[in-house]
Amino acid sequence: MSGSNIIPELYVVGAGPGDPELITVKAYKLLQRANVVLYDNLANKELLAITRDDCEKIYVGKHPYGSYTPQEKIHELILEKALSKGTVVRLKGGDPYIFGRGFEEVMFARQHGIHTYYIPGITSMQASGLEDIPLTHRAVSEGIWAITGTKKDGSLSDDLRLAMQSNATVVIYMGMKKAAEIAETYKEAGNGNIPVAVVQHASLPHKKYAIGQVQDLPQLIQDHHLTHPALIIIGWVVGLETSK
Ligand code: SAH
Repeated sequence: MSGSNIIPELYVVGAGPGDPELITVKAYKLLQRANVVLYDNLANKELLAITRDDCEKIYVGKHPYGSYTPQEKIHELILEKALSKGTVVRLKGGDPYIFGRGFEEVMFARQHGIHTYYIPGITSMQASGLEDIPLTHRAVSEGIWAITGTKKDGSLSDDLRLAMQSNATVVIYMGMKKAAEIAETYKEAGNGNIPVAVVQHASLPHKKYAIGQVQDLPQLIQDHHLTHPALIIIGWVVGLETSK
C-alpha cells in the first residue's frame, strides 16, 4: 500500500460550444480543483486558466484534418493519471455525450474501478441561436434531428433521408466534407430549396456564418471560405426573420 490519500476519479465535462463563459458553474468549480485536465481541440484553451498552477494540462485532441490522439491512448492516460494524481477532468467541446465519445471513456474508467461523473455542456448546435436560428419554432419546425455527417466508416448517415421527410430542423455535425452529398440527397428528393445555414466557430469572436439553399451548399461553403469546425443547419427555421 502506498498509504497515499489519492482518490482516483474521472469527470467527463462539457466545455460548451466555444465562448469560455458558456461553461456551467459546476464545471468551473471543478476546474479550480482538478489535478489533471485532458482537453480536446474544441474545448476553449482559455478555460485552462481556471485551473491551479500545479494542475497538469494535457492536449489529447483529434483534429479531423491533422494530428490525432487515438482513443486507446486517451483511455491509458485517464487510468494512469487518475491512479497517480486523483481528480482527472476530461474536458470536451460542447457536450461530451453528443458526438463526443464521452461515454466510452466513462465505461472504460468504470471497468478499472475509477469513479466517474458527468457534467453536461451546451452543445454547439445550441449556439445557432446566436445567429437568430431557433432550432424549433412554433408552426415551422416541430423537432430537431442532430445527425453526424461522418459515421465510423466515413459515410453519411442514412438517417438524413429519414430526417428529410419530416418538417424537423436537421443539424449535421462533422458534415463539412459531405456537403456535395448532402446537397445531392436533398435535390434528389425534390427538397433542394430548403434553407441552410453553415455556422463555423459558433459563439466565438471569429465565427463565420452563411445562409442559402441546401442545393447550393458546396458553393455556399466555397464562396464564404467556411471550414471545420462548422455545423450545417437545414430547415425553415433558417432565415426566419428575413423571410417574414
Ligand atoms: N461534443 C460536441 C460535438 C463534437 S463533434 C458538441 O456537443 O458540440 C465535432 C463537430 O461539432 C464539428 O465537426 C462541428 O460540426 C461541431 N462543432 C463543435 N464546436 C463547434 C463550433 N464552435 N462551431 C461550429 N461547429 C462546432
